[in-house]
Amino acid sequence: MERSAPKPNGPPATAPPVKVQLKNATKTFQSANQITEAVGPVDLEVNEGEFVVFFGPSGCGKSTLLNLIAGFEEPSSGEITLEGKPVTRPGSDRLMLFQEHGLFPWLSVIKNVMYGLKNEREYRFRPRKQRDVARQWLKMMHLEEFERASIHELSGGMKQRTALARALAPDPKVLLIDEPFPALDALVRAKLYGDLQDILVRTKKTIISVTHDPREAACLGDRVVVFTPRPGRIQKEIRVDLPRPRDFNAPAVGEYASQIMAELENPSDEKQPG
Ligand code: ADP
Ligand code: MG
Repeated sequence: MERSAPKPNGPPATAPPVKVQLKNATKTFQSANQITEAVGPVDLEVNEGEFVVFFGPSGCGKSTLLNLIAGFEEPSSGEITLEGKPVTRPGSDRLMLFQEHGLFPWLSVIKNVMYGLKNEREYRFRPRKQRDVARQWLKMMHLEEFERASIHELSGGMKQRTALARALAPDPKVLLIDEPFPALDALVRAKLYGDLQDILVRTKKTIISVTHDPREAACLGDRVVVFTPRPGRIQKEIRVDLPRPRDFNAPAVGEYASQIMAELENPSDEKQPG
């Protein structure tokens, strides 16, 4: 890229590069009889290998923001870039994991993971290579013994891990996660959080996830971005300074969760207009 020399006041040369950048991004939905200001303006930088969690009240525009980064929607103003290039449409470099896991029930576990690879240039028409990579990811998700199982034979947590394997197999630059875990029971959830952190450490993936659960935010995030009610703007960024892997139920995670929740209920430094 052209901007190789660090700026005098810029980050030190050792700082990880900016992966995703939002510059004054806003989103307004217009229909025949209604205008909804959903987001912004939002200014944010997400660094390579960082796990950033968007936290805020229901309806504040979190999913909309993720859709903008995914390229499913265009910002009404401002700009979103991935590695310095404007995001204009969806792409396999930004994969989204949804609440509905979206697995194909007619395909086995491994075929579901391979499906994520079949349109990638590197893997097209190379089923053996697809299978090898799919196996690696299933192993990472502790699902290697279930590769031939049907989706309906899996528990909720296993379905989510399969969906995660499918999303990660094509090696996206950014993984976007929109509240995919609330339907899981507490034990399964704690396990999944452990796996997610394990993956994060091992693959150095850049991940942006959305939640309205403060403990989830504290458990997963390197940085938690707290949003105001709609139109969502950044109210506060909280850096979670805890070693990984973090136990979902650890008291230190709970302390951060309280701090995050308090920010929502009692904004400490809300910017006054004007
Ligand atoms: P969150 O994910 O934080 O709960 P959303 O991003 O889903 O919030 O929604 C933010 C606001 O934008 C809501 O008021 C919602 O009704 C509105 N909205 C979201 N998507 C659309 C759309 N496609 N058309 C019109 N309004 C929308
Ligand atoms: Mg949402």
